[in-house]
Parts: sequence; structure tokens; C-alpha cells
Amino acid sequence: MLKIEENVKNLLKEIPQTNPFGEKVTLVAAVKLQSPNDINRAISAGIKDIGDNHVQEFRDKFTEITPNVRRHFIGRLQTNKIKYLLGKVDLYHSVDRLNLALELSKRSAAAETVSEILIQINAGNEETKGGFSVKETLEAYEKIKALPALKISGLMAMLPYTEDYALLTALAAQMREKYDLLRRQDENIKHLSMGMSGDWKICIQAGSNMIRLGTAIFGTRNYPQK
Ligand SMILES: *Cc1c(COP(=O)(O)O)cnc(C)c1O
Repeated sequence: MLKIEENVKNLLKEIPQTNPFGEKVTLVAAVKLQSPNDINRAISAGIKDIGDNHVQEFRDKFTEITPNVRRHFIGRLQTNKIKYLLGKVDLYHSVDRLNLALELSKRSAAAETVSEILIQINAGNEETKGGFSVKETLEAYEKIKALPALKISGLMAMLPYTEDYALLTALAAQMREKYDLLRRQDENIKHLSMGMSGDWKICIQAGSNMIRLGTAIFGTRNYPQK
């Protein structure tokens, strides 16, 4: 069997149906830098959700991707690019600042649509990563909740790249606590998007119910030479 197909089949077997909280786990294929052909191979092998990082790539490939997959946007989003995604993205994972939430709500309202979003949390407080701090989670939720054309359905966590599994476990558990806090007061909260190729097992164990895998499906990415 070809590698992508084999990877998807193995992952679908290996990823538990539910996390320790009894919630179904959704696998989102992170497709940055992958060709439409390779993305469609992953879809044929059983992928139902794909996540893009770059608006330009999303636009270039849009019509070439097999229809009826759920489309996620997982990358940093500039407000002036929102217009290219409106109505085409099922879930925005990367609402990492108030200004973006405001603009996404404004443009969604103008287009007479409601955009479903996750609030991105910079779980490790890393300078190189966007997102609200863990401490700001509730405050960010309340401010974004007040916006008319957004529906908040959960949290997305960026965890540090590290093999310090104790640290990852602690940070992931802290995210699950914040998620539970919101879930108790809002029945729309249902996604905790946390976990990439290197740490998804730890994340599911800590209570993630949505993982975003690129390398584990497509292999090491070939970044273009600058
Ligand atoms: C690239 C990317 C992933 C997937 O990363 P891998 O380590 O290749 O699995 C997940 N989430 C985001 C936001 C990404 O940019």
C-alpha cells in the first residue's frame, strides 16, 4: 500500500474512538504544503476533516479537493484575508487575538453568516506563538461571546515542541481544566483541539477530542527554499 494510505489506515486504527472522558476524537489532517493529489489520497483513505494554514494555499487548492470534507482553518489569519475564507471554512481554530475575533464577526455579519470558532490558547506562553494566555481564557471567552456573528465551540491549544512529556502532560491537563470550566457554562462548547504528530497520544490522554496531524499522515514536509 502507498505510504499516505497506509499512514491514514494505521492512524484510524491506532487513535482511540473516545478519550478518557468518553468523547469522540476527531482527526484533522494538517495539509499545509501538500499537493491536492496527496490530500485527496488521504481523503480516499478515510480522512474527513482537513485543516489549512495558509489562505493562499487554501484558495489555490480549493476546487481541486474532494468535496464533502469538513474544512478547518488552523493557521495564523490576517484580518484582510478573512474575505477569502468566509462561508468556506467550517471551523476556525486559530482565533488568537481580539482584533481578529472582532473583524471575523463583522465580516460574518455583513455576509449574513455565523462563523464557528475556537479560541486559540498559547499554553506554554511561548513568545513565538500566538494566542491568549491560559490565564486570559475566561476573559477572552466573555469578550468574544459578546460578538454577534461568531459561535464559540471550544478551545485550540498550541503546546511547545518538546520531549518533556511531564511538561506536556501538565500543560494539556491545564487546557482540559479551562475547557471544562467553559463547558459547564456553555452547551455549545464541544471541541478541545490539541495534539500534533509528536504529542497526540499525551493530548488525548489529557482530554483532547480533536487532533491535528500533518507529518504522521504525509511524512516530513518539504519547506520551499527561501
Ligand atoms: C502544521 C500544523 C499541525 C501539524 O503538525 P505535525 O507536527 O506535522 O503533525 C498542527 N497544527 C497546526 C496549527 C499546524 O500548523
